[in-house]
Amino acid sequence: MIITVASGKGGTGKTTIVTNLALALARKMPVQVLDCDVEEPNAHLFLHPEFQEEEEVTLPVPEVDSNKCDGCGKCSEACAFHALAVAGGRVITFPEMCHGCGGCALVCPQGAITEKPHRIGVVARGQAGRIAFAHGMIDVGHPLAPPVIKAVKKRAAGEGLTLIDAPPGTSCPVVAAVKDSDFCLLVTEPTPFGLNDLKLAVGMVRELGVPFAVVINRSSLGDQRVERYCRQERIPVLLKIPFDKRYAATYARGKCLVEEYPDWVAAFVGLWQEIERLVSQHARVAGN
Ligand code: SF4
Ligand code: SF4
Repeated sequence: MIITVASGKGGTGKTTIVTNLALALARKMPVQVLDCDVEEPNAHLFLHPEFQEEEEVTLPVPEVDSNKCDGCGKCSEACAFHALAVAGGRVITFPEMCHGCGGCALVCPQGAITEKPHRIGVVARGQAGRIAFAHGMIDVGHPLAPPVIKAVKKRAAGEGLTLIDAPPGTSCPVVAAVKDSDFCLLVTEPTPFGLNDLKLAVGMVRELGVPFAVVINRSSLGDQRVERYCRQERIPVLLKIPFDKRYAATYARGKCLVEEYPDWVAAFVGLWQEIERLVSQHARVAGN
């Protein structure tokens, strides 16, 4: 089963949920964590994996043979991303803007365009005790997160439980992370900002047709509006984690709640059981 943990904005505690769930369940089943927050992966800071391999992620970008090119400009007209320009009869390429779609090579009447790999990030894979781990890191200044996210997701083992730590927000990178998941947990905080971002995230997962539920982090701060909204929208709230200075100190030490507070092991196992129940319920309804 693939569970993605997402949130409308950063800093709400996605990684807390992913890492605690992984540690609580790893004794019971094969668990894998894929950190797809490729601009700022941080699950490794809590799971402390030993990395065993690193692989470059590349995109195929155009290479122009100036002996064949006649400067007709069809390639730059075809590129929606302005990754090619023709000046003085010569083609100039901007690989950092290229989406690797191959359109320019298709339209070139001279067959002057071939493709070469251009590095946009890396995927590192390792093991954190019983937990298989992989994360992606996009190279600084490169705007294209989804290909790196897809490269991380290709490492999904296909057995046991795969937990995906999604990037924050609701744009393309998050969609790339949440797509094809069996379930999505939306982590939020009980504040007006949290509610606003939660509503956007709910819109996204509904659009994708992925069953979902909410976890409220720092639940003892803020107000009741998030819970009221979830009740109105019939969205299950599966777990609430109150704010506690001791928990903040635990995170600051690079530790997880389940490692220092045994009661939280049962809470996260209970969260998993609720998710299993909701996934079966969704499958039953979808089958009818
Ligand atoms: S491969 Fe696609 S995005 Fe890249 S330069 Fe060619 S047309 Fe533009
Ligand atoms: S379409 Fe081909 S021939 Fe025309 S400018 Fe581009 S690379 Fe040159």
